[in-house]
Amino acid sequence: MKEDSSHSDLVEGVTDAFGRPLGSLRLSVTDRCNLRCKYCMPEEEYVWLPREDILSFEEMATLAGYFADLGVDKVRLTGGEPLLRRDLARLVRLLLHDRRITEVALTTNGVLLAEYAQELYDAGLNRVTVSLDTLRPERFRRLTGRDEFARVLEGIESVGKTGFTNLKLDTVAIRGFNEDELSPLIEFAKHYQAEVRFIEYMDVGGANEWTMDKVLSQDMILDALARRYGRITALPERGAAPAQQFCLPDGTIFGIIPSTTIPFCAQCDRSRLTADGLWYLCLYAGSGVDLRKPLRMNEPSDQIREIIRAVWAARRDRGAEERKALERVGLRAGGLIDIDRLREDPHLEMHARGG
Ligand code: SAM
Ligand code: SF4
Ligand code: SF4
Repeated sequence: MKEDSSHSDLVEGVTDAFGRPLGSLRLSVTDRCNLRCKYCMPEEEYVWLPREDILSFEEMATLAGYFADLGVDKVRLTGGEPLLRRDLARLVRLLLHDRRITEVALTTNGVLLAEYAQELYDAGLNRVTVSLDTLRPERFRRLTGRDEFARVLEGIESVGKTGFTNLKLDTVAIRGFNEDELSPLIEFAKHYQAEVRFIEYMDVGGANEWTMDKVLSQDMILDALARRYGRITALPERGAAPAQQFCLPDGTIFGIIPSTTIPFCAQCDRSRLTADGLWYLCLYAGSGVDLRKPLRMNEPSDQIREIIRAVWAARRDRGAEERKALERVGLRAGGLIDIDRLREDPHLEMHARGG
């Protein structure tokens, strides 16, 4: 086990081959999920990560500490569905024990949120993002394969009641599916003092039904909302944050994450750790670096830190920009990875590496 990093403020920042710092870490705590969103887990059954490979919370916190040594200050808990992992609040406390980690956030589908919001808030969780693609129960059921819309609403309600103030609602915007719900979602978010962020549909992981004509682009979203609300103003640059923020005439702020049509790889400081300890430098990366092995072999902390430092220093990933380049020459026909390869390696799935 690593020394207690709360006693050390050592941060030795590292930048990659394009000068991008190691900034935020997405920690996938489980590959399992209680929904089956068509754009993420279109199948009913999956090959799950072996149970014995799944990192304990202590192992996750130890690795997060090494990342903090190298500049990571924000951790986002994701999955799969992170709230399926028992006693997640304990992980939040372990992570925040390291004072260099200044923000721990959660991305959840909301189904179990009402049950756990209070204990997560009490544990110090800083932010909650709920994924919500539709306000229509029947559409929700068709998209997710589960009848859980009411529980998601309860989850969203519970966030404000427990004291969280900065709720975000993430909506994957899909042409032919929810393009008629942009303004209803904005109005819904206003009601909960939340900020909605529209995410362009990406051709990642299990999104094997993806085609370019299903992508509701940032331009289309802005056009539709300008027709409904009037002039929309872009807020200043987003830095390393994935969302560009916009303001409606009445002051309502919303965001767009235009990963597909306007990739933001040039500013990307994010990397992803799967629940079994594989580290991915990009959402589109074909392989990851095994950090579980050195951790479980009790390699000295300096050596594991050095692996992370050296790998990040050599990072040249810019997956979304490369996919965009393929599109320009007409080679971006469907999903990134075919179904047989996905079945062979569950790490390629979005639900394994976290969105
Ligand atoms: N289960 C949690 C949830 O849904 O919020 C966390 C994990 S999920 C993989 C994280 C985010 O990835 C969700 O907001 C989801 O909508 C997004 N996502 C999954 N597949 C996507 C795709 N093909 N394109 C764009 N966003 C996607
Ligand atoms: Fe949906 Fe999130 Fe589960 Fe994927 S991991 S199926 S996006 S709820
Ligand atoms: Fe970062 Fe990869 Fe996404 Fe580009 S595609 S923004 S490099 S994770």
